[in-house]
Amino acid sequence: MSLLTTRKLVKSFGDHCVLNGIDFSLEEGKVVSIMGPSGSGKSTLLRCLNLLEYADSGEIWFDGKLSGVKLTPKGPRRLSERAMQKQRLGIGMVFQQFNLFPHLSVMGNLSMPQVHTLGVSKADAMAEATRQLQRVGLADKRDAYPAHLSGGQQQRVAIARALCLKPRLMLFDEPTSALDPELVGEVLAVMKDLAESGMTMAVVTHETQFALEVGEDVVFMADGGIVEQGPSSQVLLAPREQRTQEFLHRFRPNKAEA
Ligand code: ADP
Ligand code: MG
Repeated sequence: MSLLTTRKLVKSFGDHCVLNGIDFSLEEGKVVSIMGPSGSGKSTLLRCLNLLEYADSGEIWFDGKLSGVKLTPKGPRRLSERAMQKQRLGIGMVFQQFNLFPHLSVMGNLSMPQVHTLGVSKADAMAEATRQLQRVGLADKRDAYPAHLSGGQQQRVAIARALCLKPRLMLFDEPTSALDPELVGEVLAVMKDLAESGMTMAVVTHETQFALEVGEDVVFMADGGIVEQGPSSQVLLAPREQRTQEFLHRFRPNKAEA
């Protein structure tokens, strides 16, 4: 069953149309990789899904409910900020730049959002934080501050922080693009574990190997639209559309030349 569906999602900034009517669907337990050139609208799509940005028109259905709006006799109305915050809780997000709170320890980063948004006790929040830190292999860093961690460790903390809020869906926006190459593997390994545990995930990434091994499907975007989507092996190894072929050529020059 589909956990997330968008219908004709449109978003413009001024007169620049950034999403031109996205129809997208993600089944429970599946991992989809979203690829495409810079500026194609990938981040905006994720931000709309998470209600960090409001689509101009179209629908987002998450977990059987219409997201961000309620239907009234006079038509759809945007939800209050409070109601929207509640809906956001079902979706965790991990950003390229980690976005940890620099003034809080790792434990503080993981427990504070639980206390504030879920209203759990500090003791319960710390117990959950400890579980999630173990899951990402960083139990020994609980008292460290973000500035004293490597980029790979910071991103693993950011993933643990999102998981503490018990999301049904995890969104990743280029989670390894800001990392030194030798640190990419440890973050991808944590994401692979998460996928194998059954988490539903949408991952904006240029890591074709990850997309092939871990993701079931690939969505290829260009100019605010979906150019091609399908099983990872089809889109990545036998792309049908010229735009997809040209884009992938840059990532696999040897194979394409062979
Ligand atoms: P991608 O993640 O694929 O690189 P983005 O979704 O970040 O693409 O951006 C798509 C387009 O929307 C870009 O041209 C970008 O400049 C523009 N854009 C994104 N966010 C804003 C904003 N807040 N205000 C104006 N333009 C924006
Ligand atoms: Mg982006």
